[in-house]
Amino acid sequence: MRPPSATKRVLKFGGTSLGSADRIRSAAQLIAGQVAETVPVVVVSAMGSTTDSLVRAANAAQLGEQETWRELIDSLEREHLEVCSDLADFSPGAEEPAAAILSHLRAVRELCQVAGAERGLSGTQLDEISSTGELLSAAITADTLNKLGLAACAVDAKQIIQTDGRFGRAMVAAQASEHLIRGRLSPLLADRVIPVVTGFRGATAEGSCTTLGRGGSDSTATIIGALLPADEVWIYTDVAGVMTADPRLVPSAKVIPFLSYREALELAFFGARVLHPNSMDLPRHHDVRVRILSSFEPVSQGTVIGPKVKSRPGVRAVVDTRDARLFTVGGVDGVAFTRVGTAVLGGLEAEGIPTLIVTQSSADNVICFAVSGEHGKRVREILRKLRDDTGVLGEIEVTSKAGIVVAVGDSMRGTPGIAAKLFGALAERNINVVAISQGSSELSVSAAVRAEDVAAAVNAIHDAFELGAG
Ligand code: ASP
Ligand code: MG
Repeated sequence: MRPPSATKRVLKFGGTSLGSADRIRSAAQLIAGQVAETVPVVVVSAMGSTTDSLVRAANAAQLGEQETWRELIDSLEREHLEVCSDLADFSPGAEEPAAAILSHLRAVRELCQVAGAERGLSGTQLDEISSTGELLSAAITADTLNKLGLAACAVDAKQIIQTDGRFGRAMVAAQASEHLIRGRLSPLLADRVIPVVTGFRGATAEGSCTTLGRGGSDSTATIIGALLPADEVWIYTDVAGVMTADPRLVPSAKVIPFLSYREALELAFFGARVLHPNSMDLPRHHDVRVRILSSFEPVSQGTVIGPKVKSRPGVRAVVDTRDARLFTVGGVDGVAFTRVGTAVLGGLEAEGIPTLIVTQSSADNVICFAVSGEHGKRVREILRKLRDDTGVLGEIEVTSKAGIVVAVGDSMRGTPGIAAKLFGALAERNINVVAISQGSSELSVSAAVRAEDVAAAVNAIHDAFELGAG
């Protein structure tokens, strides 16, 4: 085993963990508390709802609404400067990051000005604006660490995270990034300087700013963790870890101490709020442990995600998507199910719209599938167009108030009776199951129910598998 001093750790702080001067101060203290055992790499999100404001400002700018965007940027500037001055009280005398904040926001104003004149922004300009919050929080966090007597410097992830050119939802180029990450971060760590890296942002090989999609700072942290490589990535958030169910629905829900990568991926895909679906890929392939824990209760251990753990077989967690749309699409008479299914799924695939569940009824060539509510309108359009263009689709039915309840567990595979127990529990409570699907990986079983039955369904499954016990 390596001595503890050699532990390499990436610490990521989300927006609420940096939501105020107080929160930033306690984040800095959490970091300081670890320097005896590690020189961490820190990854930060934008403070609080900064990203939302920046996105709104960019939209307003494109519409030529000067007053709106100016007000939004002005108030972001005020808020951030206020945080700086609150933090200055806590350790007066050190240099303030105010200059950095003014200059980053000046760049945003310039872009908004251009957008107004040209009535539009390019993808990279939009990404540059929306990820400026991370530049601000990195500057403030690095400065706060300095004030605690720790060497730290802000690092713009544009220098180390190389991506493709899909603005707004870019994918990381792992090989190129590995080189950049090591080249930039290793020397800092060797000098015991803590890099404070902006989450969410990256750049193309040509240097154009990109973003990794909303909530993408988790991915920044796990990418750096996997490629540096680090031993562990700790994701500080506002909940105590990944829970057996949404605690707002299930009062007895509790933190799951260990999850496998595959379980975590499955949970993230189906909407567990604490995980970003893209953030689990690289750590899984590089065997880096990811710990999810609360910055508000740092003594709790949180959830550790790693290779498959031996655990009691069966369901580990229940997740739900309350806002789903369920589509039932029939083929015209005489057309085989496979043609109907191929047309429909091909149409969704072409637009990158993921399905939550898919079921088939081959006897009468009907396909039933669910998508998350945000895609509902677009899917309707796609299906209508497919019906006109292909001539194989017949009736299209939509249930707009549907929810999906998903039971997840690695060791469900090959454990008999799980599905029976699950559907038995739903039947016992008179919950009408509209559609059923078993994940192809056999890691999950999903049921579509009416939206108003979601809470009862989640509780029924949670109780049946005794997830709140122990
Ligand atoms: N600040 C970005 C967002 O709000 C990225 C993140 O928080 O992970 O989406
Ligand atoms: Mg955020």
